[in-house]
Parts: sequence; structure tokens; C-alpha cells
Amino acid sequence: MKPAIGIMGGTFDPVHYGHLRPALDVAQKLAFDHVRLIPCSDPPHRATPQANARQRLALLQLAVKSAPELDIDERELLREGPSYTIDTVKSLREDFAEHPLYLLLGTDAFLGLHQWHQWQDLLDYVNIVVMQRPEEQLVIAEPMRDWFEKHHTESLEPTMSGKVLSLPVTQLAISATQIRSLFEQGVSPQFLLPSSVIQLVEMLGLYGAKADG
Ligand code: ATP
Repeated sequence: MKPAIGIMGGTFDPVHYGHLRPALDVAQKLAFDHVRLIPCSDPPHRATPQANARQRLALLQLAVKSAPELDIDERELLREGPSYTIDTVKSLREDFAEHPLYLLLGTDAFLGLHQWHQWQDLLDYVNIVVMQRPEEQLVIAEPMRDWFEKHHTESLEPTMSGKVLSLPVTQLAISATQIRSLFEQGVSPQFLLPSSVIQLVEMLGLYGAKADG
């Protein structure tokens, strides 16, 4: 079996250490070859991001520059129409036919999984890793309870697909919403995200940020 690969979708509006450190934690714990960060173009479950896809991608590119364990995957930006995770995992399964695949989800995303398009089919293609986030408990909603019981595992042994694993990650109560709001208020978000990302946000004037100095 080839080395496992992690997959982390998100709006990354903007990318921050709450994405990067937990992704690296999981990569290290499960001995991944790498984690693919996949920015979405047209999120079906939330309001339109405030930076466009090209800008969010440019911020991500700066963020992963010094992390060989993290890669960017542009497939959702290259696809027409809404980005459903089920389509993304199908296409990743085709491209990485011999690698175990692990879809990384924060607790908040995982608990709302039952609202996603064809959510029950995701495990046909990948495993799911829940990155346990500071303030949230893993209280599984009724539509997911039997499914969770059936697929949940505590084993760290790689499998191609079909398992749900919950892993504690570095607890960083950071959200993109909080960071956008800091930029808008003119308050420094330093140490919540890479300084290279902050500089580009300011240069592009995203989120109402003013150029420093
Ligand atoms: P927003 O505040 O705009 O909703 P966000 O910070 O939650 O954004 P997303 O791009 O929506 O970021 O998140 C992508 C993935 O990363 C999701 O699975 C989310 O649960 C997870 N995630 C985001 N922030 C953290 C964090 N601080 N710790 C662990 N996981 C996180």
C-alpha cells in the first residue's frame, strides 16, 4: 500500500494557523505523505467568501511555502459550478488509486456532515479524520448516529477508505471570521496567521485591511 494522503477542503478566507497546525498534526500522527489543501470556488454551505478564489489561492500559496508536508490542490477552482465534496473525493480517488485517503474535517464541519450532498457515499472513496476543536464536543446528530457507530475506529493503521477517526489536534481557537473582523477593525491579527499572508492581505486591501504604514 502506498503512503496515505490527507485532504483538507475549505474556503481559506484567509488561511490561518488553525488550518495549518492541525493539518500538520494529523499528517504527523498518521504518517501521511502530504496533506492537500483544497480551496473551494463556490461553497454550497455558506455565504460567498470575501476574497475571490484567485486571491485565496495566492494567500494559501504563501502559507504552504515553508511546509513540505502541505500542498495545494486546485481541482475545485478548475471545475465549473458548485464544489461538492463527493465529486472532489471521487476525482482524488481516481488520481490516487493506490493511496489511503483521509478527509480532514474540523468538529464543526463534521457535525454538519449530514447536510452535505451524498454524505453517506463519502466513505466509499475516503476515510474521515475529525480534528477535535477546542470548544466543541463530538455530540453526533441523530441522522449520523448509526453511520458513525458502524464506521468509527480508533486504529491509526492506514486503510484505503471507509473509516471515521477522531484525533485531538493542537487547540487553536482561531477562525477566519475572527481574522476578517480584526482586519476590518484595523486591529493586528499578528500570530494568528503567517506574516506573509497578512502582508498580502494588506497589499490587496482584502477584508477592509489598510496597508501597514
Ligand atoms: P470561517 O470562520 O470563515 O467559517 P474557518 O476558519 O472555519 O472559516 P474554513 O476554511 O471554513 O475556516 O475551514 C476549513 C476546515 O478547517 C474546516 O473543516 C474547519 O472545521 C477546519 N478548521 C478551521 N479552523 C480550525 C481550527 N482553529 N482548528 C481546527 N480545525 C479548524
